[in-house]
Amino acid sequence: MTTAFYSHPDCRGHDMGDGHPECPQRLDAIDDYLLASGLDIAIERHEAPLVAWDDLGHAHSSRYVAELRERLEAIAAGSDLRAFDPDTSANPGTWKAVQRAAGAAVAATDAVLDGRAENAFCAVRPPGHHATRDETMGFCFINNVAVAARHALDVRGLSRVAIVDFDVHHGNGTEDIIAGDERVLMVSIFQDRLYPFSGGVPMGTNMVNVPVPPYTRGPEVREMIEANWMPRLEAFRPQMIFISAGFDAHREDDMGQLGLQESDYEWITQRIKGVADRHSKGRIVSCLEGGYSLAALARSVAAHVRVLAGV
Ligand SMILES: [Zn+2]
Repeated sequence: MTTAFYSHPDCRGHDMGDGHPECPQRLDAIDDYLLASGLDIAIERHEAPLVAWDDLGHAHSSRYVAELRERLEAIAAGSDLRAFDPDTSANPGTWKAVQRAAGAAVAATDAVLDGRAENAFCAVRPPGHHATRDETMGFCFINNVAVAARHALDVRGLSRVAIVDFDVHHGNGTEDIIAGDERVLMVSIFQDRLYPFSGGVPMGTNMVNVPVPPYTRGPEVREMIEANWMPRLEAFRPQMIFISAGFDAHREDDMGQLGLQESDYEWITQRIKGVADRHSKGRIVSCLEGGYSLAALARSVAAHVRVLAGV
């Protein structure tokens, strides 16, 4: 069994302008490092397909999906960069990238559920965990992980899935979509009182939100995960685990002020994999969220993928 790696050249076509941290070079940095480290031979590469319309509707309102499509198709036909919100804008390449990013998450879910891969990592952009049911937000248009989790539940017939989010920012969009859906347990860590300034009070009993004070380092973060996530994950016994894999809590990433290192991402991935091995037949689909220091991002993704691939 292998670790599937989903990506697509179209994901590089989305560009929010010079100097924007959520840039196409993020995917190049990941690719280069996987090749240079020899990890490339431990993964099986797949081109991400375009997402199916019905799948978007499992996580977003049909009105939002229709309006987003109309606007992004119009932008794709022109040449302008258009702002959707203060942090998120679209260029002509955005529409295809959005469809590939969500398509990767769904295809990876099917591959893992069908036994074609043990687990999967989606190196995609735009990211998704700030996109709510009805709004773009924080560099995100479609919530890739929520779409994939709902696909596993609504289309593939699972009854319990977990979402793990270790991005430095609270996954407010995922919470907006899945809070109160008792088929999903979401566990997360994020820097307290950082963008989007939410998560302090969970929106549902199926949310385990762990705000972390700025300047917290790896050992303390591991203790918080051990105490808060692990008992809930073990008791929930998820049939599959989705990861919102943001690497901006790295100490070299100046988007936040947390102090994680590659060894911490390795440890977190091992803990998640342990839960998956005990309860979920090893089934994990991980999707890239944040991570803006290119070198730290590449090394951290490699640490994460190395554990997924068991090498
Ligand atoms: Zn982030």
